[in-house]
Amino acid sequence: MLGRPSPETAPLRITAEAPPLAPRRPLLRAGSVLVAWAVSIGALYALRHGPAMPGWVSLVAATTNALALGIGWLASARRLPRAIHEPFVPWLLAASAPLFLLIEVTGGLRSPAILVPGFVALGVAWRGGLRQGAVVAALWVGALVAAGAALHHRLDSAWLISVAFAIASLALVPIVYARQAVAAETKARQRLARVEGYLSDRRMTPLGSEAIVSPGDLKSERQAQFQTAEGLRHIDALDRYLRDVRDTMGADEVVFWRFHEARQTQRAAAWSTEGASAPRYFEREAWGPLVRWAAESGQVQAMSDAGVAYFVVAPVRDGTRVHGALSISSRAGLTHTPDGAKRWVSRHAAHAAVLLDLLDLRREASRHLLSTPALVKAAERLQAAKTTDALGIAICQTAIEVTSAQRSALIRWDPEHETGTVMAVSRGHVLAPGLAIEGDSLVAEQCAMRKVLHKEDARVLRGAVIYGREEGKRELGGLAVVPLARAEIGVIGAIVIEGDQPDTITRREVENVNLLGVIAARSLETAWEIEEEWRKARTDPLTGLSNRRHFDEQLQRIVSDALAHGTPASLVVADVDHFKRVNDTYGHEAGDAVLKAVARVFLDCLRAEDVCARYGGEEVAILLPETNVDRAVEVAERVRKAIAAKPVTHGGRTISVTASFGVAGYPESTALRDALFPTADRALYEAKAAGRDRVKAASAPVHGRTSQS
Ligand code: GH3
Ligand code: MG
Ligand code: MG
Repeated sequence: MLGRPSPETAPLRITAEAPPLAPRRPLLRAGSVLVAWAVSIGALYALRHGPAMPGWVSLVAATTNALALGIGWLASARRLPRAIHEPFVPWLLAASAPLFLLIEVTGGLRSPAILVPGFVALGVAWRGGLRQGAVVAALWVGALVAAGAALHHRLDSAWLISVAFAIASLALVPIVYARQAVAAETKARQRLARVEGYLSDRRMTPLGSEAIVSPGDLKSERQAQFQTAEGLRHIDALDRYLRDVRDTMGADEVVFWRFHEARQTQRAAAWSTEGASAPRYFEREAWGPLVRWAAESGQVQAMSDAGVAYFVVAPVRDGTRVHGALSISSRAGLTHTPDGAKRWVSRHAAHAAVLLDLLDLRREASRHLLSTPALVKAAERLQAAKTTDALGIAICQTAIEVTSAQRSALIRWDPEHETGTVMAVSRGHVLAPGLAIEGDSLVAEQCAMRKVLHKEDARVLRGAVIYGREEGKRELGGLAVVPLARAEIGVIGAIVIEGDQPDTITRREVENVNLLGVIAARSLETAWEIEEEWRKARTDPLTGLSNRRHFDEQLQRIVSDALAHGTPASLVVADVDHFKRVNDTYGHEAGDAVLKAVARVFLDCLRAEDVCARYGGEEVAILLPETNVDRAVEVAERVRKAIAAKPVTHGGRTISVTASFGVAGYPESTALRDALFPTADRALYEAKAAGRDRVKAASAPVHGRTSQS
């Protein structure tokens, strides 16, 4: 009996054909062509009633014709990039509308430009069929004749015919090329569609047997290449098996249908017919529903006629997992009885399930086998980083290498205070290292919750604060925030990756970043701790300026650099005037507040490369690399004015302070490295003696004597 599908079963959706290449926007194109035509007709009308056209118009016409012909030829031979070639026909129609005007101006039907509309007609004929081409050609001729009549030109039929012949023979070459190209492309797309059909929703798992050697091989785009290669090999194996089944059963065709769970569709993944781009003997309308029903109900279905089965389909499943279905058809009828055929097909389906399981297993195993070396490579690279900055940059670069992201940033997070800072970014990131993570930002939220955030389409986040309000403007298509956690401490940071396009950063890529984080977290924690200790040991706790230890180290370095490169360096020593009075009048605490405020003024007035240290109680020393004495005096003046102009308020009282400055330059004021500080200090003393609140530069050493005299 025929196994009829139950009426409530939804119809089978079989997708064996390749998807269309690009979305088309017919309305937009038709609109632009129409507008161009309207403009051209308007111009034609104006021309008829306007003054005679000058001679250069024919030159422009000839050049345009030559260009249009060349492009037309290349486009129809598919020699141009797809982006130009795809919208070519409507574009050419639009572009040739003004040309139509030129044809009339330069001799009507006798103009060589008449070839261009001919080519357009041929192009349309090739792309859309002969009928469409003929319609376009007829429209062209009609329009030209009408325009000619409007401008009182006479029609030359002999010329029209010879032009038609010329076009036909010229166009033959590109048309032959184009047909070949189309055939090759169709074949390639069918092959690709088969791989997709076979892989179905298991896109994430497989990998090919090609060796993976760099972290970049973990990118989903590279993985897809490996997958395709592996998929093709698997399809070959399946095809061979199906051919064996076909021959032992004496059938026309055996098809394996892959069940796609997420989309509830089945597509032909492998078939026994050699060289066919799709199953050749499958009757979609009649048998399709049976295939779906077999897979869903887990029962073998058969169609028979006068006791002879001609179509049998059995589910391919192991345990609860449905792979799909195996269908066998024979127009002449299978040699077995319907029941016998059902039994045999179930057996073959069971074998196919085992084969598919093995192939899946192989894919899974090869993926693990091959992604491990890539991760080891990434780990090696991180180990090789010698400084904290280099480690940060290596992490950011690796993060974009193992994903499809364009930008990445490494965040340091303090779980106790729930604050964070951008520590490093990948090349070309709009974000600046040092940016503070704001409390209500997305990154802060994820770090606080210790949760991974993955937005395949991050356009929904438009306007949201990812890091802080100071973050630069950029296209945000995809986003992932992966917190780095250490046992006992909690979240110590995060890796944030960003993509320009939505749907490019995949789940597996986010897993890659997570793994990278696991590898890096320990090194980062240690590096950051060491850095923190180093910083603390060189910072004055009250003012946040460098301490004397750091100053002495930097003095050596900067003077050595100046000596090596022959550049100047300067030292400014500053001292707050009558500071004892501040303490005596307002109290020690107020004195501290004044010191802090003065330190802030110094930092605001200086460059990042300047070293500003608290040298003594209320003494500040500033090292200015690559700065001569004149320039250093200017800087000191600026700081002096800023201090004098900014009274400090403490406990409701306003305290005004001033400071005195001594400036010395190397080698301007002294050629002895160790004499630099005493020289500046002497200048400071002079400033104090001269009445305070001023800058004094050390006088240049007298020639022939040492500055220490
Ligand atoms: P001048 O430099 O203009 O000659 O006068 P001065 O009053 O500033 O002179 P001096 O250098 O002798 O005084 C420095 C005072 O700074 C002495 C000390 O009480 C005070 N001082 C040093 N360190 C600190 C500190 O950390 N906090 C506070 N509040 N005061 C400090
Ligand atoms: Mg003082
Ligand atoms: Mg002092």
